[in-house]
Amino acid sequence: MSRLVIVSNRVGPVRDSARAGGLAVAIVEALRESGGLWFGWSGEISEQGTHGPLKTETVGRIDLTTIDIDAEDYRLHYAGYTNRTLWPVFHYRLDLAEFEREWLDGYYAVNERFAARLYPLLRPDDIVWIHDYHFLPLAAQLRAMGAEQPIGFFLHIPFPVPEILTALPSHRRLVRAMLSCDLIGFQTDRDRRSFERYLLEEEEATATAGGRIRAHGRTITAAAFPVGIDAESFSRFAVSADAQRQVDRLAALLGDRLQIIGVDRLDYSKGLVERFRAYGELLENYPENRGRVSLLQIAPPSREELDAYIEIRQELERIAGNINGRYADFDWTPIRYITRGFQRRTLAGLYRASRVGLVTPLRDGMNLVAKEYVAAQDGEDPGVLVLSRFAGAAEALDGALIVNPYNVEGTAEVLQRAVQMSLTERRDRWSRLNQAVHRQDAASWRERFLTVLRNVRRE
Ligand code: ADP
Repeated sequence: MSRLVIVSNRVGPVRDSARAGGLAVAIVEALRESGGLWFGWSGEISEQGTHGPLKTETVGRIDLTTIDIDAEDYRLHYAGYTNRTLWPVFHYRLDLAEFEREWLDGYYAVNERFAARLYPLLRPDDIVWIHDYHFLPLAAQLRAMGAEQPIGFFLHIPFPVPEILTALPSHRRLVRAMLSCDLIGFQTDRDRRSFERYLLEEEEATATAGGRIRAHGRTITAAAFPVGIDAESFSRFAVSADAQRQVDRLAALLGDRLQIIGVDRLDYSKGLVERFRAYGELLENYPENRGRVSLLQIAPPSREELDAYIEIRQELERIAGNINGRYADFDWTPIRYITRGFQRRTLAGLYRASRVGLVTPLRDGMNLVAKEYVAAQDGEDPGVLVLSRFAGAAEALDGALIVNPYNVEGTAEVLQRAVQMSLTERRDRWSRLNQAVHRQDAASWRERFLTVLRNVRRE
């Protein structure tokens, strides 16, 4: 079997499966199977940056090889183009996107230097799997250096419709670079269709059956590979002693009250402001929930150096303060808003003790929290998943209550339905959800992608 080479922004962890999310575990499994190289950024900023020595660690059959970047690379590539240009555009937030020529140049320059460090490590019979928006042009740069190996690319975030993407200056250059891959994977068929439509409308492409697209002199395969979680482990986490301790603590705190839970990285794509407002409406419009239904929101800050993230944090604190000020009682706090991270086992217990999982991104590639919430439930007395139609997860999760997060009043109405749902309906919905979460898990995602990549016909 060919050696597998994975490229992603961050590498690992390989040994510490308690810390690794389901995706990292799935990737490590794939690398173990065929032997492999995992290449990416070390997470360090140094003076030598990408010109410094390769850092290599070998764990069994896996080589982990990373390089540093320098402060300027960090500013232009990471903090600039990926986080302030690509992230907002790909999440449909043109209002937050910033376009700076030097960021664009820095993005391509960093990709080129990564390609130059990776290329000499490649063997003729490797297959290469590149991950995510940090490395959209990497395949093209490897090809320019002479790489002929099969190259697959998987986009973890949404691929925007052409009406949005074409607002990005030099969108054409970016998409053409993607065409150097043999296989491009998306989270949902909606994303794949957006990509195909872009090529048909902007590049005079022709699409053939089986997801093959001919554009700009190349034929590639584009398909949806919905990312999953390691559902089995997560279900086990939920009945671990650690999780049970959380369930017991919460049970003592809540008594016969119900809890809605939200767990997200603090990011404007997650719809947190709308979510808090919807919960406020639930208390306002359905007063029987006052003193009875609380919201636990866990949202550790991310990308704290960016203004948009500071603003959202302040806004959330303000709204939570207002709602608590208005409705709290001496023995009941409506919103408990926590900004720290938790162990995965603890998180599993918190999900399990919550009657409603509230997942309302304004736009999300997949959203793994939705799947974790389902996997953590007790099948005898499961909770209800309330899920945004704009999460990739909504495409596959039949059984969730689907909401439009922009419609705050509508979301409150659905929340009311969720907290009142009968046990029979909860069980019925959950068993459908749980089947889907186990069927489309992290291992099947990885196997499907690699099977297609190993078999793509090169032209
Ligand atoms: P994104 O990748 O955009 O952050 P996802 O929902 O796809 O969104 O994945 C988020 C992952 O981060 C999930 O596995 C979730 O359990 C984890 N996570 C989010 N918040 C916390 C937290 N406070 N503590 C521990 N893990 C968290």
